[in-house]
Amino acid sequence: MRPMGSSALQEASKSIIEWGRTAGRSATALPRATEIFGSLTFNDQVQRQRLPRDAYKALRLTITQGAPLEPSVADVIAAAMKDWALEHGATHYTHWFQPLTGITAEKHDSFLSPAADGRAVAEFRGKELIQGEPDASSFPSGGMRSTFEARGYTAWDPTSAPWLLVTQNGTTLVIPTAFVSWTGESLDKKTPLLRSMESLSKQAIRILKLFGSDADRVYTTCGPEQEYFLIDRHFYFARPDLINAGRTLFGARPPKGQELEDQYFGSIPDRVLAFMHEVEAELYKVGVPVKTRHNEVAPSQYEVAPIFENANVATDHQMMTMETLRRLAPKYGLACLLHEKPFAGVNGSGKHLNWSMSDSLGNNLLNPGDTPHDNIQFLVFCAAVLRAVNKWQGLLRMSIASAGNDHRLGANEAPPAIISVFLGDMLTDIFEQIEKGGAKSTKSGGILDTGVSVLPKLPRDAGDRNRTSPFAFTGNKFEFRAVSSNQSIAMPNIALNVAVTESLDYVATELEQAVAKGKTIEAAVKALLPKVIAENKRIVFNGNNYAEEWRKEAAKRGLLNLTNTVDALPQLVKPETVKLFETYKVLNSRELHARTEINYEIYVKTLNVEGQLMVLLANRYILPAALRYQTVVGQAVAALKAGGGTPRESKKLLAQLSRLVDDLRTRTDKLAKALDDHAASAEKHAKHMRDAVVPAMNALRETGDAIESLVPHELWPLPTYREMLFVK
Ligand code: ADP
Ligand code: MG
Repeated sequence: MRPMGSSALQEASKSIIEWGRTAGRSATALPRATEIFGSLTFNDQVQRQRLPRDAYKALRLTITQGAPLEPSVADVIAAAMKDWALEHGATHYTHWFQPLTGITAEKHDSFLSPAADGRAVAEFRGKELIQGEPDASSFPSGGMRSTFEARGYTAWDPTSAPWLLVTQNGTTLVIPTAFVSWTGESLDKKTPLLRSMESLSKQAIRILKLFGSDADRVYTTCGPEQEYFLIDRHFYFARPDLINAGRTLFGARPPKGQELEDQYFGSIPDRVLAFMHEVEAELYKVGVPVKTRHNEVAPSQYEVAPIFENANVATDHQMMTMETLRRLAPKYGLACLLHEKPFAGVNGSGKHLNWSMSDSLGNNLLNPGDTPHDNIQFLVFCAAVLRAVNKWQGLLRMSIASAGNDHRLGANEAPPAIISVFLGDMLTDIFEQIEKGGAKSTKSGGILDTGVSVLPKLPRDAGDRNRTSPFAFTGNKFEFRAVSSNQSIAMPNIALNVAVTESLDYVATELEQAVAKGKTIEAAVKALLPKVIAENKRIVFNGNNYAEEWRKEAAKRGLLNLTNTVDALPQLVKPETVKLFETYKVLNSRELHARTEINYEIYVKTLNVEGQLMVLLANRYILPAALRYQTVVGQAVAALKAGGGTPRESKKLLAQLSRLVDDLRTRTDKLAKALDDHAASAEKHAKHMRDAVVPAMNALRETGDAIESLVPHELWPLPTYREMLFVK
């Protein structure tokens, strides 16, 4: 019998060689992006063509102004959408939503309804477009919904265009929806995101008005950069930990890791490139504007990024991007790993969330602009974000907390768990001068004093030079870099939006009062900014975030350092956070507590699955391999002795193996016992997981990996790091 591990290598190499041999010949030219972009979406262009003028106008009003959609209009839209979908071969429709588990959910219904004469007709009414009722009892509600009230409703989000999911044997109309309980409480991530965008808009508009702007709405914009790993799927299928936990729970360090950094921006392997092309083509069809792709730092790690969009649409598109990556990988003999840390010892994956605000006239509010007037407005918005990040750092930290991200944050490859802002030297200098009372130095151009000169042009890529910052200004947007590869960007977006909303409210109120007293807006800003900067500058850090000195310095500055999920989660239900969310009507106290409860549960479940898997791997893969090798060595020792020799080294090896086997057994038992302990509440259970289970897992891994580095290749039952990361 050949162990699984080495047969996976043979299968993987066979399929790679085969792919290399046939790929060139079987290559089909993919259609051009411009021809297919949005071809499978019920987008503005299709809406304009297919809807009666009145219905189209009503829908536009809903999309741009948030006006409610009348049932009669909904019927008209539903009919047009159905016709369009049927013409494209759709047989089913689904309300697609984002429950609190972190993935997306869908329930497919057929368009067909039985007709009186025994045939079937395609039907789809406004009611079915606007509202669906999935049986929601299995989705987590954090105790907000008891079983007797199990129903939840899904409601179409008209700001996100429906699209067609084309699979081999059928096409489905996918309708992006929000998911709420029958009492109106939000059970998903879209509802609070939409609410937070609405609140931010209101406050931002108050400030824009003071600057004389005609804009009537402000949109949060975002562009998430997604990192992921691709490995040959033979390896994936031979690793129970990858299949069930998404990451390797054992695995000795390979002789070559990422130290050469020869992968970053290096040429992309053919098979991977072919995969990327198809992913992009599929995403273009459903309207996702993916733009860049490249190799990342770790071996077999890649990145894809879209052009930025309205944050709500971008969030849907991000989920679709992750789904598409996962769905198409097997077609190329690959498995896509979106976990934050699939492999210990090499970089994990993150998701840089580029974030800004844009007004309804198309102006980016975080663009310094070309005129003194624009510059002042920019400084106001920028300072408001600075204040938001400082004041709500705990909330932001919480928004990216997960068992998976705990492996990255602070692990010298990703930003630390301490939230700080990188502004770059130039902007920092300008802020420092403003704080001192008006920018007089020529270096910054004396912006506020003269009102004539302009800000020096900020280099667009200034922020990119410091990749260690969790939150960096990159010329015309902020980049939240601590977000994890595996998570929806909804929560970090919500957290940012709410925090900035509160800050904009504060700034707007101060400025309005000053202007009401007869000050010019310039004078009002000049009076306010030094105060805002002085109170919040502790959050600015342009240095190396990985350095130990920063930890000390941050502690001196009183910044939070919440190193793990269990420490970060309570931030969401602190009294001031609850007040924040309630004031701006994004989530109420019950909803916030429910979410916290669910987050604890997810943390516990994740670690429980990982822990159980480790016990399984230790008992059924690693121990048998170790014992087999022990037997081999034992036989060698006996043979040597029988031949009259002194098997000194063999005996040492035998003793070492036997010690490791003992350790493996005791450590497995210890982990199994820790997993058996339960606690009264989800929070207590989460603490137990962090304090007892995680250390037991780490200890067991150490022994397992030590055994791996001794056992011969042919006896080892799992694909190794060297194979998974470098055979491609
Ligand atoms: P960088 O090189 O600094 O990362 P890029 O221009 O390559 O900048 O942008 C990276 C990501 O940021 C892309 O997804 C891009 O669409 C997004 N982005 C650019 N401008 C904005 C903006 N105003 N709001 C939100 N995201 C943006
Ligand atoms: Mg970037």
